[in-house]
Parts: sequence; C-alpha cells; structure tokens
Amino acid sequence: MVAPLHSLYLCGCLLAFGTASPSQDLLDPAKPAKKAEAAWAAFSTYSAASGRRDAASVVSAMDRLTASLADLIDQVEKLSERRSRLAKELPEAIEHMEEILDDYKSGLFCSGCDRTRTEILARGEKFPHPGQHEVRPTAAQIEAKEKELLRPIQGMRRDLAQATKDLQVREDRLKEALEQPPQGLYLWQTAATAEQSALLREDARCKQRAETELRRIRSEISRAQMDKRPEAEADLKLWRTLEAQSQARNNLDQAKAQQSLAEAARLRTEQMKTLQTYLDRGKIHLRLSLEVKFVTASPAMHDKDLGAYFQMGAIPEVGKGSEPYPAAMAMVQKFRRDALALPAESTNPKPQASQTPSQKKPRTH
Ligand SMILES: [Zn+2]
Repeated sequence: MVAPLHSLYLCGCLLAFGTASPSQDLLDPAKPAKKAEAAWAAFSTYSAASGRRDAASVVSAMDRLTASLADLIDQVEKLSERRSRLAKELPEAIEHMEEILDDYKSGLFCSGCDRTRTEILARGEKFPHPGQHEVRPTAAQIEAKEKELLRPIQGMRRDLAQATKDLQVREDRLKEALEQPPQGLYLWQTAATAEQSALLREDARCKQRAETELRRIRSEISRAQMDKRPEAEADLKLWRTLEAQSQARNNLDQAKAQQSLAEAARLRTEQMKTLQTYLDRGKIHLRLSLEVKFVTASPAMHDKDLGAYFQMGAIPEVGKGSEPYPAAMAMVQKFRRDALALPAESTNPKPQASQTPSQKKPRTH
C-alpha cells in the first residue's frame, strides 16, 4: 500500500503506514489531498539533501572564484602601477632627449667621445677632453644622433602601449569577474532555501499524515465505543494502543524535524562565515563590498536574483557573463519547479520559506 513516492519522505511518519493495522484501508490513496500530494511529488526534485549538496558546492565554487579574483585584482594593480610609471617616464625621456639633441645640433662636441659640451661640463670635466678638439656636427651626424637617441624612446612607447593593452584585457576580465560573487551568494541562498523549504514541507506533510491517521483511529474508537458486542472491547483496546503509538511517533517525528531545521540553520551560519572569509581575500575589498547574509529565495524572483548567472567558480570569458550558466540555471529551475508544483488545493501549510521575502541585494561598487 505504500506508494513509491513515499520513499521521498525523510521523516519517520512513513512507518505508521507500514504497520499492520486492523484496517488495511486506514488511509485511502484516492483521497483528493493525496492526489495533490502525488502530483507534487511527481514534479519535486529538490530534496533537503540535494539542496544541502548544492549549497555546499556553491560555497566551494566561491572558494575557487575568490582565489582567482584576488589574483586578478593583484595583476591589475601591478599592471596599472607599471602603466602609470611608463606614462610618467616617457615624456620625461622625450624632454631629456630633445635637450641633448638641441645641444648637439647647436653646440659643439668633443672629437674624442662625441659627447656635447653641455654634457661634458655637466659631469665636471674639461671640454674638450685633453688632446681632443671641438667639432660641429654635420647633418648626417645629427641624423645619426637623433636615431640613436630615439631608440630607447621607441622602446618605452612600445612598453607603454603593451601595458595599456594588457591592462585593458585584465580590466575587462575583472569587470566580468566582479559580477560573479553576488551571483554565487544568490545561488547559495537559493540552494539553502531549497533545503529549508524541503525540510519544512516534509515536516508539514508529516504532521498532516499524523493528523489523518489520528482522525481515522479516533473514528474507529468512536465506532468501537458504540459497538455493544463483547468482541468490540478488544478492538477498542487495540485502537487505543494504536492511538498512543501514533501520538508517540508523531512527537518523535516533530522532534526530529526540529533537529533537522536547527542543523540546517547551524550549517548556514557556518557557511556564511566561510563565504565572508573568502570575500575578504587579498584586495577584493578594493573592488567589491559584499556582506554575506541569508535571505530566503522566492520562485518569483528573477533568474539573476536567484544566482542563475553564477559560473560555479569560473570567471566568464568577456561577454559571456550575460548568459545564465547551465549548472546554476538547473538549480534555479529545480527550485522554481519545486515551489510552483506545490498544489494550490493542498491542505499542507505553505512553508514560510517559499513566501516572497523582502530581498536585500548585496551591494556592489
Ligand atoms: Zn671627449
């Protein structure tokens, strides 16, 4: 009589239905509430365990992501410093070159060392050097001198252009990378909410089953009480025992459910701390200010607010970050399908977690 879908439930209330009872049709599978439940179960794929697994995989993806992000920020910082230094040194070098060239063109130089008068005097030496004579440069000599002086300048120009290009490539990559941590946090919230919702749903279903069972048992008790035949006495006794057993089981299930919810909450708090340490890595704080918190996700939220664009630890190629990532999108869809598949006519209380929360987005700057 236990349908396969029952195996999805984690709670002990299942056992109640496997117990041999005087009435095999204690629970009628044709009841409308059960039909709705079966419809829900057919769609449901987000169990508490898979929610927990997904949340953990997002946390370890955030570990990889923040490590590459901190590294990328370092590269950008270094390149940016190098570029600034080159940009400052180049005009100085040009100015210096022009001074030397002007001096060379208009002035005199030493026949022995080709240095100009200004240069030699600046070094505190005698011009021209002893045994040498003053020479005026010819047009060909000026041209050769200019070429010689321009060589290091051209090298610096090339270095500056390269540094600018490298910096741009990394800045573009960094821009994509910075979109990822908030997505990771959203996806983590989605998976953690899925776990919490599944636990609450299981708990609610468990309670409902226990209530149905007790109702049936009590109606059997009433019936047995009315029965004036002597054999009804034993029947009544048996139903009373079943009633007590059912209540005890229910209490145990409730305690288990509370324990599971507390354990899930403890794990979330731990993961929040871990995520915060990841986000505090290196110089990430210079580019991104994120406060890790747990806000329950809602199926009504946009893909992006549920973390569908999180690339599971990878930094997207430039221009590719604007598409949902398949693995993340699968989690988001699973979460939505689960929440939406809850039948409207279901008598199960709606889990708190699937109600629309006021979502506070992590700030980015
Ligand atoms: Zn000389």
